[in-house]
Amino acid sequence: MQGLVFDEVFAALGVLQLDTDEVARLRAWVAAIVHPGECLDLIAEAAGTPCCPRCQCPRVHRCGSASGLQRWRCLACRRSFNALTNTPLARLRKKAVWLPYLQCVLESRTVRAAAELVGVHRTTSFRWRHRFVPGAARKRPVRLEGMVEADETYMLESQKGSRHLTRPPRRRGGVAKRRGISREHECLLVARDRSKQTLDFHTGRGPVSAARLKDCLQPVLASDVLLISDSAAAYRVFAESAGIAHEAINLRAGIKARGAIHLNNVNGWHARFKTWLKRFHGIASRYLVNYSGWQRFLDDGDLSTPAKLLTAIIQCAICRQKVAN
Ligand SMILES: [Zn+2]
Repeated sequence: MQGLVFDEVFAALGVLQLDTDEVARLRAWVAAIVHPGECLDLIAEAAGTPCCPRCQCPRVHRCGSASGLQRWRCLACRRSFNALTNTPLARLRKKAVWLPYLQCVLESRTVRAAAELVGVHRTTSFRWRHRFVPGAARKRPVRLEGMVEADETYMLESQKGSRHLTRPPRRRGGVAKRRGISREHECLLVARDRSKQTLDFHTGRGPVSAARLKDCLQPVLASDVLLISDSAAAYRVFAESAGIAHEAINLRAGIKARGAIHLNNVNGWHARFKTWLKRFHGIASRYLVNYSGWQRFLDDGDLSTPAKLLTAIIQCAICRQKVAN
């Protein structure tokens, strides 16, 4: 009987003209049931034998399991924990649909579309987005080398989702009150070297200062880089104080390049980011780095499958936990 019902359903599916969203829903559903333990296996594999997240003691022993995850007990502090304790993923439920959800992250789906696809509530979909995405975005290049292009892009400050606005609301996204870049704009600084390693920094409101450039860039630039920027004074001041070679392009004078000295790579990144961002219909400023980080790992293309994404998230969470202790 059951076989017959399935055959009927399957035949009906064959007759239906499925659109891409329906195909994606089916794919997510199959992915969640095909091997329900896959997510748990990936977590266990990525975490290995963990150290105690509280006291960093490596002497731990297995102690049963809970919610499908191995539990460990620390021999020093006697506390028990699992691979996700003290990470942003601790206590997130429904692990059977984490991988289908991460597929939605790779496809840049909206909160609502991802929620419908994997069968979770919209608030869960939103919470997961802002746990998983920054988790994966923590995988960043340590050092930029050779010729490094740096430039900022600005977005109107947004309090989307806030219950209490600190200013009168704007209509339809609105426009700035003043011309040019002001304190109404959030600054995203992007630095990209010629091997396409990219770093993004939310430097706060208003034009970027030499001090903020120093905070963001100095720790990640090799000492022998050639920094390329527009003619904003902040870059010259920063490069001089840091003892870094610097070339400026005078974009205002209409000069876009002097041989290999140009900002095409970083400006291409900005353009792709802004185009990609449109699907979200405005983002809250406080999440700006989450979105730029999201675009960065999509653009890099290394984390191309849900499994790779989850492994990177777990490994970065565990590394961070070690640094914090
Ligand atoms: Zn311990």
